[in-house]
Amino acid sequence: MARKSFFIDTTLCTACRGCQTACKQWNQNPATKTRQRGTYQNPPDLSAVTWKLVRFSETKGSGGEPKWNFFPDQCRHCLYPPCKMAADEEAPEAVVLDERTRAVIFDPAVKISPEGFRKVREICPFDIPRYDEKNGRMAKCTMCFDRISEGMLPACVKACPTGAMNFGDRDDIRKMAQNRLYEVKRIHRRASLVDPEAVRVIFLLSDYPENYHRFASRDTAKGAARLMAQGLPLQPADRVEPRLG
Ligand code: SF4
Ligand code: SF4
Ligand code: SF4
Repeated sequence: MARKSFFIDTTLCTACRGCQTACKQWNQNPATKTRQRGTYQNPPDLSAVTWKLVRFSETKGSGGEPKWNFFPDQCRHCLYPPCKMAADEEAPEAVVLDERTRAVIFDPAVKISPEGFRKVREICPFDIPRYDEKNGRMAKCTMCFDRISEGMLPACVKACPTGAMNFGDRDDIRKMAQNRLYEVKRIHRRASLVDPEAVRVIFLLSDYPENYHRFASRDTAKGAARLMAQGLPLQPADRVEPRLG
């Protein structure tokens, strides 16, 4: 099986939350009791039982008009995952990198201390890992490893009704993302692909990343320091398409 990636085209996202619900359903994660807090984003954040969350951000368009930005957040399955480097020191085998797909998987059979988990979460450039204090296990998106191993699409991709969520072989996904960026740039000058050379979950945004979510793009003060200390590249040279002019 070839190495995999996602392409999430937020310009097509309607915030229907089908992906969020499908993730919970397939992984048999329970619902979270919530309340109305003045936003449609619900539950308020990722958790040990919410691995996919559609974030809502109310901002202003280029003409100053009110604008919603939707961001279906999940683990980016980093090419060189800092979470694994931190976990290897705290709880070896707690984070596994699948040889074939390159999915970054938190092994639910391996426990970690609260202090060890704090180090794993702090180093993630996207603030993804979450912890279940009752059982000492970390949790996040698995890339639906059980489904893709059987040739199926991840549950969130399968459920998306608009084509915003895409999944496939990395080279194909990178081309799809680059082609779509060319199209979207004609209308949205701020459009960009987020960290495409560092992650396997590539977002297309039509606005600046900070107008979606604080961790929409990498917080380079976090995981990057660990990568540099280990002599690993911040932006692996696996590009297959030419740069935009
Ligand atoms: Fe959830 Fe699977 Fe999508 Fe990850 S790939 S967000 S586990 S549905
Ligand atoms: Fe690990 Fe965070 Fe990267 Fe996911 S996004 S692979 S949790 S460092
Ligand atoms: Fe957006 Fe698709 Fe998720 Fe609906 S299912 S919230 S359109 S990414």
